Amino acid sequence: MDVFTIGRCDACGALLGPDASVCSSCRGTEISRAPSSGNGTIVSWTVVEVSPDRTCADLTPYTIAIVALDEGPWMYAWIEGAVPERRGKVRVHYDRMTPGHPYPLFVRQ
Ligand SMILES: [Zn+2]
Repeated sequence: MDVFTIGRCDACGALLGPDASVCSSCRGTEISRAPSSGNGTIVSWTVVEVSPDRTCADLTPYTIAIVALDEGPWMYAWIEGAVPERRGKVRVHYDRMTPGHPYPLFVRQ
């Protein structure tokens, strides 16, 4: 199984998104990897109806969301399937990285 990791600042210990190269707390640039549960909550999302990139055509329409990980960091993610138009938390968890796609795929719990 694919292990999901996020960033952790060596200087201050802040947990950061998986692609962070600069610490959002202290601006440090020494970032280590830290394990993540891969669980989070969707903060907001947008549905992309037409892909500008042919490699993503199989996933159109797809959803790009900002996910607040349980560890704290926010990150962009692909969401598989439609996100319901309702209030309340939508829980998701990390599924996999897909070659050629910029964001990790998350699925609804
Ligand atoms: Zn820091």
